[in-house]
Amino acid sequence: MIPSILPTYSRAPLTFVKGEGSWLIEADGRRFLDLGAGIAVNALGHAHPKLVEALTGQANALWHVSNLYQIPQQQKLADMLVELTFADTVFFTNSGTESCELAVKMARKYWYEKGAPERTDIITFEGSFHGRSSAGIAAAGSEKMTKGFGPLLPGFVHLPWNDHEALTAAINDKTAAILIEPIQGEGGIRPLPDQCLKGLRDLCDEHGILLILDEVQCGVGRTGKLFAHEWAGIEPDIMMVAKGIGGGFPLGAVLATENAAGGMTAGTHGSTYGGNPLGCAVGCAVLDIVSDAGFLADVSRRAGALRQSLEGLVAAHPDVFESVRGTGLMLGLKCKASNIDVLNAAYANELITVPAADNALRLLPPLNISEADIAEAVKRLDAAATQVEKAS
Ligand code: PLP
Repeated sequence: MIPSILPTYSRAPLTFVKGEGSWLIEADGRRFLDLGAGIAVNALGHAHPKLVEALTGQANALWHVSNLYQIPQQQKLADMLVELTFADTVFFTNSGTESCELAVKMARKYWYEKGAPERTDIITFEGSFHGRSSAGIAAAGSEKMTKGFGPLLPGFVHLPWNDHEALTAAINDKTAAILIEPIQGEGGIRPLPDQCLKGLRDLCDEHGILLILDEVQCGVGRTGKLFAHEWAGIEPDIMMVAKGIGGGFPLGAVLATENAAGGMTAGTHGSTYGGNPLGCAVGCAVLDIVSDAGFLADVSRRAGALRQSLEGLVAAHPDVFESVRGTGLMLGLKCKASNIDVLNAAYANELITVPAADNALRLLPPLNISEADIAEAVKRLDAAATQVEKAS
């Protein structure tokens, strides 16, 4: 009999009932150290007092009005994002998937308005992940996500990761945009080197096409910059955001330049909940903290400490781990043993990590994790690796 929850997830037998900072408390009282942060969502850990205050304060005042009216919290968050980034304008969504939908629509509308409606193709890359909607799975293109769900939305051109020649050959007079994650998350923490991101920007400029960055997982302070592309010193035309921006409240956004967003006039897009007062009140509180230069410097400092310890673990457990990769607090352990065996051994040591493709394990802790908690996490990961070695 089909379970009452549609069985599209295989869930761990863990039921968390409370969160405190970087810790999750299981129903049976066990305390798990959380290096998953709800898949890069709880950017400030669990129950951060400023976020609780923002949410409960707004909950006591007003929950929802719809986008038929002015929403001051939405205006404030949009103004903050415009001030802090390349963007001139912002549309709020409820998830990364919805941000993908709008990014695709916006790029196509841009060319339609320019009198080139045949430019509909969006170039994407192997191993990418952009959500589970029809556009999202067509964009990623992997058989795992698309099999059985055809006919797929047309207009996506899939290229190998890191193949410059294939890329230059693929651009033609049907190309609307290039869509890429600066660091692939679900794909196994695969960072695009800064010079490649710069090269992509140059290529887009040369051909007059749009650069769409998917910073749903790598954005909002995770790499030690507010957005990951800042490391490469370039700016996109359109950027997808979600996850960390809401700190655990469902919130996403599409940021764009005035030029790229030019076709999106009244009536061309909408969302009942997108940018609602609750989400935006929390978003303002998150951004206020995460955009602080001192906070971002702390992320890089903590990331340095974690990375160094992880390199030590790789050296100490060569049969379990192969390498460390990633930027800031978006780190991946490429495993030699099965990543799922390591994940389960970590659970047994009351440590949360997140599996990814390419036999990798993702470490995506809250950005404000303490040094003591980082040291404790490394200790538990060490114990987990020893357990995997013994079992093999
Ligand atoms: N894009 C990236 C890079 C992601 O990592 C994800 C989710 O993991 C998405 C898009 C989809 O976001 P959501 O699950 O919020 O719809």
